[in-house]
Amino acid sequence: MFRGSDTLAGPPAAPAATAVFTAVLTEGPVSRVALARRLGLSSAAVTKAARPLIDLGYLHELAATERTGPGAGRPASPLAVRADREFFIGVKITADELIGVVCDLRAQVRSTARRPLTDPDVEAVLIEVGRLTDDLLGAFPGDRARIRRLGLSLSGDIDRTTGLVRYSPFLHWRDVPLGRLVAQRTGLAVTVENDVKALTAAEHWFGEGVGAESFALVTVGTGIGCGLVVNGRLVSGSYGVAGEIGHLAVDATGPDCHCGGRGCVESIAGTDAIVAQARVRTGRPDLTIDEAVALARGGHEQVRAVFTRAGSAIGCGIAAVANLVGPTRIVVSGEGLAAYDLFDSHIRTSFERQAFGAAARCPLSIRPLPFEEWARGAAAVSIQSLVLP
Ligand SMILES: [Zn+2]
Repeated sequence: MFRGSDTLAGPPAAPAATAVFTAVLTEGPVSRVALARRLGLSSAAVTKAARPLIDLGYLHELAATERTGPGAGRPASPLAVRADREFFIGVKITADELIGVVCDLRAQVRSTARRPLTDPDVEAVLIEVGRLTDDLLGAFPGDRARIRRLGLSLSGDIDRTTGLVRYSPFLHWRDVPLGRLVAQRTGLAVTVENDVKALTAAEHWFGEGVGAESFALVTVGTGIGCGLVVNGRLVSGSYGVAGEIGHLAVDATGPDCHCGGRGCVESIAGTDAIVAQARVRTGRPDLTIDEAVALARGGHEQVRAVFTRAGSAIGCGIAAVANLVGPTRIVVSGEGLAAYDLFDSHIRTSFERQAFGAAARCPLSIRPLPFEEWARGAAAVSIQSLVLP
């Protein structure tokens, strides 16, 4: 996060205020008594931590609706977040397009915009991010003065703490200080995060991962990605690698993978891999993914088998995550799941076969992912930067 330490809860009140704000933000209206119990704080400490957040307009008290217990005196007034207190821009950078959203404090999308990206040069991308920001501000119906932060997400090796893009394969970038450059360009406080991790953050704080001690998000598309939350924290890996489900080997005699490995999930179930296999099976060297999907849906047995194999590989990868980490739940999503109907049952069958014992009980939520969701993930990381260092 750039432009100094203008996080919400500065020291010395930070730990309790951060805990209170995070709990109210992610778990909805909650009484001080419940907060105290949940966070292991005294009621006085909760009240003290909440006061500046109320004064700043981030939290407010709802009308009293619940009694704290029989004969417990005055009813408790739950604390809730004022979603309109601040708004956040989120931008997902892809190889050929920028997708942007403006979200409120509860990560609800308030406006959207897109711009094509024709040149991966850093300066060209900065110009387009600036234009997209202008478009978003122009379309935003609320108070623009309440937009101070912008989150960016892209695939690749990203250092969230410094906003450095260490390596972006599709933009061919190495060591680009994207956070600092975009902060200079827009005057906003900027966060940068890996796109799958950003999406995981959105699910963790505002989606199906809320309240789950551990969960996994698996994305299916050009790449097969995975974000892991364990003990309430996003796992980033000591070497910057964790949750690389796409490069788990599921077939020792399978295809060579672009990573140098063999039989990786991605070498069987990534979009490029599916297209390559469908071309071989049909003898049509120019077949596209959309045509492959149409053939499979039309009952072309050979092409259906390609999707069946892909779904089985993904299910094996997910089972490995369940066996290793034991998450409370797993969400499977991504643009590849536009062909959801071709994958779904094969993912589930193979997951149930490979998951060990009770790990098979882990619920799988399999659903398509609109591209704006990626941008919302970037905004969610920006929201987190209010309270996380
Ligand atoms: Zn691989």
